[in-house]
Amino acid sequence: MNPSLRLGVTDEDQALADAVAAFSQAELAPRAQAIDEQELSVTCHVPQLAALGVMGLNLPEQLGGPGVTPTAMLLALVEISKACAATSSMIGAHFLGADAVLIGGDAAQHQAWLPRAASGEWLAGFALTEPRGGSHPADLRTRAVREGDHYRIDGVKHFISNAAEARFLVVFAKTDLAAGARGVSAFIVDMGTPGIQVSSHEKLMGIRGAHAFEVSFDNVRVPVACRLGEEGSGFKTAMKVLDNSRLDVAATALGIAEAALAAAAQWAKDRKIDGEALAMRQGIQWMVADMKLRLEAAWGLTLQATALRTAGRPFTQQSAMAKLHASEMVGFVTDAALQIHGGYGYTREMPLERYARDARILRIYEGSSEIQRSIIARGVLG
Ligand SMILES: Cc1cc2nc3c(=O)[nH]c(=O)nc-3n(C[C@H](O)[C@H](O)[C@H](O)COP(=O)(O)OP(=O)(O)OC[C@H]3O[C@@H](n4cnc5c(N)ncnc54)[C@H](O)[C@@H]3O)c2cc1C
Repeated sequence: MNPSLRLGVTDEDQALADAVAAFSQAELAPRAQAIDEQELSVTCHVPQLAALGVMGLNLPEQLGGPGVTPTAMLLALVEISKACAATSSMIGAHFLGADAVLIGGDAAQHQAWLPRAASGEWLAGFALTEPRGGSHPADLRTRAVREGDHYRIDGVKHFISNAAEARFLVVFAKTDLAAGARGVSAFIVDMGTPGIQVSSHEKLMGIRGAHAFEVSFDNVRVPVACRLGEEGSGFKTAMKVLDNSRLDVAATALGIAEAALAAAAQWAKDRKIDGEALAMRQGIQWMVADMKLRLEAAWGLTLQATALRTAGRPFTQQSAMAKLHASEMVGFVTDAALQIHGGYGYTREMPLERYARDARILRIYEGSSEIQRSIIARGVLG
């Protein structure tokens, strides 16, 4: 379906999506396979993405962003994901860091850090997960101890996207070990600060161009002026940021699934079995129908959550449902698309196996499927 026919999509939203689609197909798609095979960092695309306004899509105009709607941002990320999901994942991690400053920070922090994030000059990241577990983020071991006008941060973060090239990370650390979620504070940490070490990047199954790292903090001195909000407000900030970012994950799922379904439909029409196109077989038609149905349901949930976000209404539940359904839908759609391609789909000559590998992370990061189910159940059961 033409996205402009979808409810809530304006001509301006669609114009941005069209510009991003043209760029993505011309510049990202041709390089995606090589980036995947050679594990090259997709940050090479940042200057061009920034020129299109993409690196600041989540930021208002007064902070250097293009000032577009959440719907436009969603459509832009879908277009990028159709071409290269690793690129949208890298952008998503950048948005996580910038969003944390936007949501948790004051006007001085906004001015100090966000315009250069929007322009792509500074890459951002978000450091919540620790080696002992990412699903229970109130249970952190990284500590921040106040010493006069500084905090001393010590600890280890794991799977931190963009860390090697980021200018700043928003780091979540315990300022009160006994206080659970209320003991978590958030800090903007300049990656040039002494005491920070970044590992070599993880060897990933998919999105291999979106590098993730272990980051250790040893006696890292962070000015009090870099604390976001009050002490103890970090967990709330993280949860608000994740409400937003789960829609970015849903967008990535929609983009990969759109690409996989388009490839499968074309293949089914072109491929002849016994002199007849695969598309003539009812078994294939039903697979295609199921793919389309689940994809459209994911669009519906994601657009609904986006509309609530735009209206400034609570959308935690809808965001969790959109993320959960879209990330599970794309697993089904990429697998079915690969199946329709037969043996060719299993080769690296075609992008189907990459789509399937790239899609898999979407059920794990920014809250696994199990965590999304817990959020949804909490909404129903209280
Ligand atoms: C490529 C990549 C990039 C990432 N980027 C970032 C980043 O930039 N910043 C960041 O902070 N983190 C990042 N992460 C971390 C990611 O968010 C975590 O991997 C994720 O939250 C899961 O945490 P975990 O891996 O520690 O698994 P665990 O928390 O150990 O969970 C293991 C399994 O147990 C399940 N589980 C856990 N608790 C429950 C429960 N209560 N009920 C039922 N099941 C449960 C989980 O769903 C999962 O299936 C990234 C991860 C990857 C792989």
